[in-house]
Amino acid sequence: LAGVNRNRTPRVVVIGAGFGGLWAARTLAQGNVDVLVIDRNNYHTFLALLYQVAAAELEAEDIAYPVRSIFWKHSNIDFTLAYARRIDLQNRIVVTDGESISYDYLILATGSITYSFGLPGVAENAYCLKTLEEAVALKNHIICCFEAAAREEDKAKRESLLTFVIVGGGATGVEYAGALAELIHGPLVKDYRTVDFQSARIILLEAADGLVANMPQSVRAYTLEKLQKMRVDVRLGAKVREVTSNAVLLSGQDNITTQTVVWTAGVKGEPLAELSGVATGRDGRVPVRETLQVLGQPEIYVIGDLASIKENNRVLPMVAQVAIQSGVSAAQNILRQINAQAPQPFRYHDRGSMITIGRKSAGVAIGARTYTGFVAWVIWLVIHLFNLIGFRNRMMVLINWAWDYLLYERAVRFVFPSEMPSLSKLSSCVRVGGLDKEPPKNSQ
Ligand SMILES: Cc1cc2nc3c(=O)[nH]c(=O)nc-3n(C[C@H](O)[C@H](O)[C@H](O)COP(=O)(O)OP(=O)(O)OC[C@H]3O[C@@H](n4cnc5c(N)ncnc54)[C@H](O)[C@@H]3O)c2cc1C
Repeated sequence: LAGVNRNRTPRVVVIGAGFGGLWAARTLAQGNVDVLVIDRNNYHTFLALLYQVAAAELEAEDIAYPVRSIFWKHSNIDFTLAYARRIDLQNRIVVTDGESISYDYLILATGSITYSFGLPGVAENAYCLKTLEEAVALKNHIICCFEAAAREEDKAKRESLLTFVIVGGGATGVEYAGALAELIHGPLVKDYRTVDFQSARIILLEAADGLVANMPQSVRAYTLEKLQKMRVDVRLGAKVREVTSNAVLLSGQDNITTQTVVWTAGVKGEPLAELSGVATGRDGRVPVRETLQVLGQPEIYVIGDLASIKENNRVLPMVAQVAIQSGVSAAQNILRQINAQAPQPFRYHDRGSMITIGRKSAGVAIGARTYTGFVAWVIWLVIHLFNLIGFRNRMMVLINWAWDYLLYERAVRFVFPSEMPSLSKLSSCVRVGGLDKEPPKNSQ
């Protein structure tokens, strides 16, 4: 086996270099342990700004950071680029697409994937927004729709090219709808002078009776009003029953002819835990003890989006703060276990939530206080800039935002030639089959 622990320093393997995995590894660096971080990508993605990549506002590189360089200063942390296929719980081995890696303690931080709820056609025909590849593919597709519309003579086909449907009125759907509206009714108007922008439509479909359900009422009302002002056609109570290659079919409502469906309506736990025989809920997340350990496996911790962490009778949301704080807590508990101390229960400190709808408009909820409009937007900008990893990334994002803000211009409207994999292979369950599909049984 590769990487067997010969000097008996305990080895902690962290699968996933997202928010949870990174903060866990950094905390572990302070202990007398060997840490190995595994990720299918050699970069960390700042997912909160992914929608801006898909809306031609930022480049992919601006929100990605090489994992190895994050750990330069920590001599006891190493990184392996590999896809974790399965965990052999009995022998404490992570089976990857390359080597098999043994562990003394394991932190599962593989996050979540897009979930279609089994609706027909979503996996094959919809665009997702969960990974950098998906964001770049979506941006390319949007630009290509305008290129095609500019030379399309058939009115119905042109309208279908210029109709953009976003499914899901949560934070990702709302933020993308706003960013897309600003792209289309801003810089693209100058780019495509022959296109009739009156027929360009952005439709946001939400099955519930309101947007951003986790936000206070004032922020929800502000979000709806703002999007409508930005010419987004928000349809509440709209239930999708199927997505075809050129339409969204709705229950009891008109169907919408379109070439673009962006699916942000569902997420579930990344399947590694489930495939390894770790008990998961219907949402694919792993119910953990209050110490974040897996029931019956005290050497395995689950954190972040993948963990179903109950506090005060509610499951904590899939947000970056939960991932970061649970990562730190799991790492501290492992160091305690190594020092023969009992692991401590995890307590989440809610620092508030925020959403941006567009230029100078956002909603922020911190404790009982809510802010909307320009003030909220400035808070949002500062917090996101501060949380980005890497000085270069912060500078590039700041420059792009300033450019966009001052000149009403988007700098990233390129479609570089590429051999993109087909759409069905682009989901975050990627490289193994596509949305909702199981990875092939492994390969030791
Ligand atoms: C578009 C979007 C916008 C968001 N906006 C916000 C926001 O504004 N604020 C907020 O708080 N939260 C936001 N979130 C949610 C937040 O990003 C997640 O809650 C957070 O990233 C979860 O962290 P994690 O470490 O659990 O998982 P992730 O950050 O998703 O990291 C998982 C890591 O595991 C790797 N991985 C997965 N499977 C495997 C495998 N089998 N083998 C090897 N590696 C694997 C992945 O490559 C990834 O690096 C957003 C999410 C999305 C998708």
